[in-house]
Amino acid sequence: MTATWKQWLTTFGALAEDLSTLPTTACPNCGAKALSVAFYGPANWDAASGFLWCDTCLQGVSGCRMAVPPDAEVIPLGTPLEDWPVAMPDFTLVRPTEADFED
Ligand SMILES: [Zn+2]
Repeated sequence: MTATWKQWLTTFGALAEDLSTLPTTACPNCGAKALSVAFYGPANWDAASGFLWCDTCLQGVSGCRMAVPPDAEVIPLGTPLEDWPVAMPDFTLVRPTEADFED
């Protein structure tokens, strides 16, 4: 049983509200407390591409034009991946399925 896109987004939404919970938030997929986030976007914007992934099971999600949490560092556009302050592995993007839109 793998976590759905909706479960990942719920986790991402909660983290975006309070990034300080990142170290204690369990991965919705494998349960490891090994989640990382990164925000990537233009300077002086309050929105950015957001990434959430698990360093244990290497799954995660991304979102465009996400509101950036006030205490989050936004990696400037054009920064090479190797220079990111957080190492982003080559993780598997979880994508929405029909089931994510059923009640
Ligand atoms: Zn995981």
